[in-house]
Amino acid sequence: MLPPERTPRQRIIDLITGTRLSSYQLAQMLGIPERQVEEHLTHVVKTIARNKTRQFILDPARCQDCDFVFRDRSRLTSPSRCPHCRSEAIAAPRYGIDLSAPQLNPHYS
Ligand SMILES: [Zn+2]
Repeated sequence: MLPPERTPRQRIIDLITGTRLSSYQLAQMLGIPERQVEEHLTHVVKTIARNKTRQFILDPARCQDCDFVFRDRSRLTSPSRCPHCRSEAIAAPRYGIDLSAPQLNPHYS
């Protein structure tokens, strides 16, 4: 367990650095509602945007039936329905933080 003095935002940053997690997974790990995770994430995005050594990564939500990718979504919350095929089988977006080292991380430059 992480020390309790860390704020949820710091813990989210710790948890998603170097990996990708959905807000559902983060909610489970932090023991808080998913909606709170999404609220924290909007602030985490701003924090990371100011930090030149790190980069926030959003793996967009995707329809599991037709593979439609929700690339244009600016909000962080999961879409509930596919605009193409109306399916509700949406794979949740996943969040991560990569260290900004373009020479070492060509995939995310
Ligand atoms: Zn679809």
